[in-house]
Amino acid sequence: MSRPSNFPPPFNGADFVSPPTDPADERIEVGVLIVGAGPAGLACAIRLGQLLESDPETAERMGEVPVALLEKGKQPGSHLLSGAVVNPRALRRLFGDGFRMQDLPNYGEVHGEAVYVLTKRNALRIPPPPPMKNHGNWIFSLSQLGRYLAEKAEEGGTMILPETAAQKLLVDHGRVVGVRTGDKGKGREGQELPNFEPGSDLIAKVTVLGEGTQGHLTGVALDRFGLRGNEPQVWELGVKEVWKVAKPLKSIVHTMGWPLRAGKKYREFGGSFIYPLGDDMVTIGLVVGLDYRDSELSVHDLLQELKTHPKIRTILEGGERVEWGAKTIPSGGFHSLPRKLHAPGLLLCGDGAGMVNIPRLKGVHYAIESGRLAAEAAFRAFQRGETPATALASYDDAIRESFIWKDLKEVRDMRQVFQRGFFMGGAFASAMTISKGRASVGKKEAEPDADAPLLTTNRAASYPAPDGKLTFDKLSSVFASGNKTRDDQPNHIRIERKVAADVARMWAAMCPAHVYEVGAEGDDGTVTVEIAPSNCVQCGAITAKGGRLTPPEGGSGPEYTRT
Ligand SMILES: Cc1cc2nc3c(=O)[nH]c(=O)nc-3n(C[C@H](O)[C@H](O)[C@H](O)COP(=O)(O)OP(=O)(O)OC[C@H]3O[C@@H](n4cnc5c(N)ncnc54)[C@H](O)[C@@H]3O)c2cc1C
Ligand code: SF4
Repeated sequence: MSRPSNFPPPFNGADFVSPPTDPADERIEVGVLIVGAGPAGLACAIRLGQLLESDPETAERMGEVPVALLEKGKQPGSHLLSGAVVNPRALRRLFGDGFRMQDLPNYGEVHGEAVYVLTKRNALRIPPPPPMKNHGNWIFSLSQLGRYLAEKAEEGGTMILPETAAQKLLVDHGRVVGVRTGDKGKGREGQELPNFEPGSDLIAKVTVLGEGTQGHLTGVALDRFGLRGNEPQVWELGVKEVWKVAKPLKSIVHTMGWPLRAGKKYREFGGSFIYPLGDDMVTIGLVVGLDYRDSELSVHDLLQELKTHPKIRTILEGGERVEWGAKTIPSGGFHSLPRKLHAPGLLLCGDGAGMVNIPRLKGVHYAIESGRLAAEAAFRAFQRGETPATALASYDDAIRESFIWKDLKEVRDMRQVFQRGFFMGGAFASAMTISKGRASVGKKEAEPDADAPLLTTNRAASYPAPDGKLTFDKLSSVFASGNKTRDDQPNHIRIERKVAADVARMWAAMCPAHVYEVGAEGDDGTVTVEIAPSNCVQCGAITAKGGRLTPPEGGSGPEYTRT
């Protein structure tokens, strides 16, 4: 039995940390530098805009460009993918008095919900377990919400730099002093093409990383400053589609059970979500824990299988798929949070720091709240009479006093118990929810997803053949993500290319974007992994399962508009 972690990727975090290298007069200086236009980064920018307005003296001290935000996607929202049923709590705090949820681009408040346990042919409706109750929450497309929040951030004075990947963490004398952006216009072998543009050093007094799941620099910073939490982070992979449908879906739907298998040995944990986007669209997604063991498990193909269920098929009947995408979600929860959320010159927020309540499938309001609190700490660092170190440390205190900490603590052992199998894990999870986390269930320590020993069960034989109407193959799905990555740019995926055959099969099945293929077998029993990096939609699953995703050239990747 192989484990993906037996084949570590050729990746050294130290290669992505350096002091500034541009000559001093060519460095771009900003006050606060935010990486990532997700809900965390954008909330941080919006709050900074409010603070700048209320305190012109401090604003003056932050320089000509008080706030800058980098986003690797073509524009804010391009790389945002979520459910998304959003708890409005953090949005209300961010926008304050006079704010109405109706003013945001949304698909209405949740008024009804249905939860089903599926078998291959049947669907048993059950009362929604406490974590799946969503009354009072609102339905969004996160990529649309991201575009809206970006406009608000710009109105407040943030300079947004899209198509710009933060590649290196700039550290000088033990303090983060900004980031270096990635080069553009390089060929496959790293050679400079005629349109080559070198990256730049962006220097800031405070850098806020809101990179989301599998954040590249966040991972580098956690190691560089020894911030990793008590337990390893683990992830789920979500694959979702947006459909135009013939008849409206009246309530949000969650399913458990089929097509995942319940047996403990498979470690298949997850479920589906189906949310209405107005009267004529629905979004349907499947989320599966990446600690699974079967080398043929493919979340993309399981989602195709799910759509063939009689209960689900009726929702989509007469409709048309209009978008597809994939992304991971950190699911280690409380025990996997970093030991500290700050380092000299640096703050970490949102999914990058693992702020997700996985039993509720909620992270957007934690990202927004943490971004808002990061803004307040960053701003303090510029105020007269404050020392930057104390100001940034106040962010950790603020998070510990926030609802983020309280909520994640209540569900702290939830994800780990599912490594005991779906039914035992489910029973423990219910006990924990009812007791608000006080019931002790003898928690089992989580192991990294890449440590899960592989098994093979011929799972792929039951995936439905793509018909191009209800079920789709991976390549047409990548097309539906709007991915336009340049074919001839350098490979941004770090994996060991010669691995055990079951590891190669696992990567090929796992990747929703058909990036990996099992190649020739060598004399030593290993196989070569063939790779098509331009298909990559940057979901992050490869980092969880034994490789390492690094940001490709800025502007690459999917162009999500409704995910
Ligand atoms: C399938 C799925 C369903 C979900 N459903 C829900 C739900 O219903 N409700 C809910 O509340 N939560 C849900 N979540 C979780 C929620 O989407 C996340 O918690 C939330 O998006 C985290 O926000 P963030 O700002 O931290 O990161 P993200 O939303 O991931 O945003 C990060 C941004 O940073 C950019 N970036 C990253 N690295 C760099 C870099 N080095 N340089 C430049 N830019 C960079 C990315 O391109 C991206 O735009 C779901 C997640 C998934 C995947
Ligand atoms: S290659 Fe890209 S799309 Fe495929 S699993 Fe890795 S990160 Fe996801």
